[in-house]
Amino acid sequence: MRNKAIIFLSLILVAALFITSFRKGKKSLPATVTLGDMAVIMIDPGHGGPDPGAVSEGIREADINLQISLKLGEILAQKGFCVLFTRKIDEGLPPGGNGEDIWQKTGDMGYRKKTVLESSACLFLSIHQNSYKDSSVGGAQIWYSECNEENKILAQCLQARLNEACELFEDRALQRRDELIMLKDNPMPSALVECGFITNFKERNLLSSEDYQLRLAQALAEGIMDYLKGGEII
Ligand SMILES: [Zn+2]
Repeated sequence: MRNKAIIFLSLILVAALFITSFRKGKKSLPATVTLGDMAVIMIDPGHGGPDPGAVSEGIREADINLQISLKLGEILAQKGFCVLFTRKIDEGLPPGGNGEDIWQKTGDMGYRKKTVLESSACLFLSIHQNSYKDSSVGGAQIWYSECNEENKILAQCLQARLNEACELFEDRALQRRDELIMLKDNPMPSALVECGFITNFKERNLLSSEDYQLRLAQALAEGIMDYLKGGEII
């Protein structure tokens, strides 16, 4: 029990030290976080409400994004992080702007990005599912931007853990996507996670299951911890 407590406190200390050092060089971020502060992680479940994202055989990307995001948030909260979400229910953004007649993709994305940038988060993940015309393609992939030199290290940590977790599918490599709104000019370490292909029959069934969603969420949490511990790829 004592050992567990020491490990837990050490992890919080490492995270806090990381945030402090990260923030020192970023003038655009809010006041420097001190060691006593709790590490904040922002999770963005992609799409929602009028925007289902990719749809395959009736399975909506937006729903899987939210289910995996909530599981990841729970795991991170258990590890002592403060977890924020851009959405926690099936809705388009901003909240209350769900009507198909008034909802707009540009407004939704603008609201998400503003929420992330104005938060006190030290790390950001946007959760998505992939789709492709060739239904044999599968596996998880991290998309990152080189607008921030930390992003690639975070992406490598996440990709390594996802490749372990998705052993039924081919290992995928990182993909640089500087133009993505949620990643572009985002000063905090950030990544967009494509958890798998909902156009692949086997993967779609797995992505819809609680067990596999939990497995992916655990892999992402481990990837975050690897990154906070110094970016070693295990
Ligand atoms: Zn998506």
